[in-house]
Amino acid sequence: MRAALAVAPGPVSLAGYDPSARPLAPTGKDGRLRNDVETMRGLHDRLWAEATAGGKRSIVLVMQGIDTAGKGGVAKHVAGTINPIAMQYTGFKKPTEEELAQDFLWRIRKRLPVPGVIGVFDRSHYEDVLVVRVHELVPESVWEARYDIINEFEAELVANGTTVLKCFLNLSYDTQRKRLLARLDNPDKHWKFNEADLEERARWDDYQVAFSAMLERCNTPHAPWYVVPSDDKKYRNWAVGELLFETLQELDPHFPRPPLDVPALKARLAPPH
Ligand code: AMP
Ligand code: MG
Repeated sequence: MRAALAVAPGPVSLAGYDPSARPLAPTGKDGRLRNDVETMRGLHDRLWAEATAGGKRSIVLVMQGIDTAGKGGVAKHVAGTINPIAMQYTGFKKPTEEELAQDFLWRIRKRLPVPGVIGVFDRSHYEDVLVVRVHELVPESVWEARYDIINEFEAELVANGTTVLKCFLNLSYDTQRKRLLARLDNPDKHWKFNEADLEERARWDDYQVAFSAMLERCNTPHAPWYVVPSDDKKYRNWAVGELLFETLQELDPHFPRPPLDVPALKARLAPPH
């Protein structure tokens, strides 16, 4: 899956990525998109157990994408495939006054997963080269410098044992329209409807440029980007699940084997007299 969805090095134009594609999706009678949840949980259990014995490894799943692309939906799906006590979800909102007074990575660092944990980032430090760039919330020289700062930050994470798995949920303009309409048509979804999403939609082309720049300039060997076609929700969830599965498999965690004196311990568990 990683090979199929990885961004090719060099110039990136999102126009070249089809949001309705379904690379590697099984077809025919067995065409169900199902992650191997049992194996994934087992791998995550091992990663968590390893951390209790001093292991330093963790994973951070970074999700970016336009409103309605499904960042929350993927988070829910992923939560069902891993060990919930070792998962930490963070949705990054408009920064607070306190956060704005700090470096843009300050609030990100505070939410980094500790060893054994899978951190799920619904938005991330990339907002600082996306919404911030599109709305010119800081001068160009400031956001321009951030691509390199982010690359260095992620290199530091990787050097400290955190795998950075970055997924861009790629949605088409037309599918976003349908999803926003669906929210209006269903009173139970009105709480999700945000008028500001329409203003962001009006800046679609600017966002495509900002997304492309992010995918091009922060696609590093230590923390590559994956573009996940997201017009089909089931495909999107499955594909991110597979990317996470492959990441866990590659980490190949093992249960720690502390040197227990098993016979001596068993003797102390002798039945009462
Ligand atoms: P949601 O993810 O739908 O709850 O919306 C969160 C909102 O916070 C979005 O409109 C984001 O663009 C905004 N946001 C997140 N991070 C930043 C940031 N660093 N600067 C400005 N706005 C942000
Ligand atoms: Mg929203």
